[in-house]
Amino acid sequence: HATGPVLEVNNIEVVYNKTVQALRGLSLAVPRGQIVALLGSNGAGKSTTLKAISRLLELEDGTLEAGRIAFDGQDTAQLAPQQLVRRGLSHVMEGRRVFEDLTVEDNLIASTYALSGRAGAPKPDFDLVYEYFPRLHERRRGLAGYLSGGEQQMLAIGRALIAQPTLMLLDEPSLGLSPKLTEDIFSIIARINAERGTSMLLVEQNATVALAVAHSGYIMENGKIVIDGSAERLASDPDVREFYLGTG
Ligand code: ATP
Repeated sequence: HATGPVLEVNNIEVVYNKTVQALRGLSLAVPRGQIVALLGSNGAGKSTTLKAISRLLELEDGTLEAGRIAFDGQDTAQLAPQQLVRRGLSHVMEGRRVFEDLTVEDNLIASTYALSGRAGAPKPDFDLVYEYFPRLHERRRGLAGYLSGGEQQMLAIGRALIAQPTLMLLDEPSLGLSPKLTEDIFSIIARINAERGTSMLLVEQNATVALAVAHSGYIMENGKIVIDGSAERLASDPDVREFYLGTG
């Protein structure tokens, strides 16, 4: 498997509450070591795609009705979310979900329980997190609730990074952040990719910043992919520019 795409999503359909069809035959691939942007307007189904991949759909009464998802060449249908984490897939959910009443370090510890005591699971790497996010090291004894929005986003990414993932799913890391903080976060994301070879599937509203770090991208509408291509091609495509970059 070491040569094929790290992630292959084939023709998936997702339905919520047995009524709302959110994905309608969606296919995409993440080549090993690359950053792939998943773009599209509100409600297109970007978050749903990530939840289908990390198998968190069931928590929201969503079901994968058809299609196939392969992580590292293996069908994920029979795997629990924690098993996927142990195999190297980490999902940073939208909205910086951190435990506000725990310290920064305890937030990191809490995210290692899926790994603990399991043969073959990666060792939690606190130094790795603090290397990329020195600010979290400075604030490690402070409560996560007192961190700024940007620092909470760093902690959310750190909680995923501690498991030494081969694939990270990132849901709107720029949400609610200033342009400067967004730039800081994206340059760290690009460094993690370049230095560690971590593959990434990056969901973003902000297409401009996403395409600046991504190798390739997909644009979704109504539960399926409508355009795909290299990041350069998407960034210069007139339709993409008009509808998603606001520069048409
Ligand atoms: P956003 O950026 O606004 O989150 P998105 O592209 O991530 O948009 P999704 O959140 O995946 O879109 O939503 C896709 C569709 O599925 C929408 O029509 C949404 O209303 C619906 N949906 C999402 N979550 C649920 C849920 N838990 N129950 C029912 N419908 C849902």
